[in-house]
Amino acid sequence: MVEPIVQYKDIHKAFGDIEVLKGINLDIQPGEKVALIGPSGSGKTTIIRLLMTLEQPTSGVIEVNGHNLWQMKNTKGELVEADDKHLRSIRGDIGMVFQHFNLFPHMTILENCMLAPTIVKKQEKSEVRKTALEMLEKVGLADKVDLYPNQLSGGQKQRVAMARALMMKPKVMLFDEVTSALDPELVGEVLEVIRDLAKSGDMAMILVTHEMDFALDIADRVLFLNEGVIEEEGHPKDILVNPQSERLQDFLVRFT
Ligand code: ADP
Repeated sequence: MVEPIVQYKDIHKAFGDIEVLKGINLDIQPGEKVALIGPSGSGKTTIIRLLMTLEQPTSGVIEVNGHNLWQMKNTKGELVEADDKHLRSIRGDIGMVFQHFNLFPHMTILENCMLAPTIVKKQEKSEVRKTALEMLEKVGLADKVDLYPNQLSGGQKQRVAMARALMMKPKVMLFDEVTSALDPELVGEVLEVIRDLAKSGDMAMILVTHEMDFALDIADRVLFLNEGVIEEEGHPKDILVNPQSERLQDFLVRFT
């Protein structure tokens, strides 16, 4: 059997007194596309922020490629808290696209894409430039590379954010409601790029989305999160077309 690329093992997360995640167990296979749906406040973003190491769990373990995110073995073979080097090496396998694009306004889109690999990975600039041009081509922006973010539409900015995340050649891509800040007429072009990536790539993907038709089309599995627990999961058709729990049925009525 293939080892999962990501494993959440009994993850709990509290903010103060409020327990937002109440025991999440989730294995993601290499290349698997998982859509995460659920009401606002159910903990979807927290699930992916944990994997990005932007939050730490209150208890439980997350492993990427079999490596514990927050612990590592020291030279004596003892388990100790992970250091920055350990975190960086694991995080290198994970890319994320946010709801808001987080591009640097004073840099061209080519420079935005080149920044992380040049600084973090200390790669040769001409190589990085070549990769950036390839990635921008992949998201349909080959003719815009020298423009600045404020010269682009929201949909184009989001496509730059995707190209930038692809620069690190992640094994897992996280998409957090990437179309929800966009004007409706710009949603299609962004979903189209994700669809192409999903169909062509062997990257695993976790997508937090309210686009149910899109989830039905590209996901291998849909998870319905409710009040910090995975209440229902399965094949997109079973979950989205033939939901079992009343809460999932109610939720879907609001989005279809
Ligand atoms: P979703 O993505 O499903 O809307 P989130 O994961 O963003 O849900 O949030 C789940 C709950 O956790 C919400 O009630 C939110 O207010 C709370 N929460 C998220 N981040 C923080 C934080 N940094 N501090 C305090 N509460 C937080």
